[in-house]
Amino acid sequence: MGGEDGAEDDPDQQQSLRHDAQPPPANDAVNPSAVVFDVDYTIARPGPELGGEGYCRVGTRHGLTLDAARYEEARRDAFADLKRHPELDHDEEIWILFTQRIIDGMGGTGDTYAAAVELTRAWDHAEHFELYDDALPTVDALRERGIRVGLLSNTSRDLEIFVAHHGLIVDAVLTSATHGKTKPHETIFRRMLFLLGVEAGEAAMVGDTLHDDIEGARAIGMRAVLVDRAGRYPDVPDRLDDLRALPAALGLI
Ligand SMILES: [Mg+2]
Repeated sequence: MGGEDGAEDDPDQQQSLRHDAQPPPANDAVNPSAVVFDVDYTIARPGPELGGEGYCRVGTRHGLTLDAARYEEARRDAFADLKRHPELDHDEEIWILFTQRIIDGMGGTGDTYAAAVELTRAWDHAEHFELYDDALPTVDALRERGIRVGLLSNTSRDLEIFVAHHGLIVDAVLTSATHGKTKPHETIFRRMLFLLGVEAGEAAMVGDTLHDDIEGARAIGMRAVLVDRAGRYPDVPDRLDDLRALPAALGLI
């Protein structure tokens, strides 16, 4: 998460990912003309370098002995205690301290900060992620129907590199590092809508995090669909197990 590289948005740069020169489709009061996807755990999951074994390897380089088996629980505990920036600013230090808590939870003792910095940086690399099998077909199916697609993530990862690495074609990308605020701050959603050239009522947000993705999008009048791959929220309305049913859920097929 690289807050220090957080130059203000460059509209020309962001819009360079608009590959289709056609105007947006006519507004439809029911069906969206744009779909905005969260990235982590919505279209992509962290690969082995960002799992327990990867944390152990980095720990070893820093003289730490970590227990890979404790990774998942340590991550859950750290997330439960995660303190957001009071103004929802993008703040890399928050994620370094979050990572340090995971390392502590995996049994790390001593100087864990340097390892936390290195592991936080590891989340910036596109090649450390794997797309879910349903991601590419879903994005392609939407764009074939003239739906504009954006990626919106609380991250320092360069999403232009990410989409190129994974063969995704989208119309706009935006991160908290470039915008300066994180989801669920309303300005990051509004900026994405601007990049896509649509109003809130014409767009749907698709993400895995209730507070950041779903509540944030609904607060400005966007429709929102929860992707609940782990089955954690069976009672939440407008939820899907994965992305395969998304076009139908949005009334697009
Ligand atoms: Mg996510």
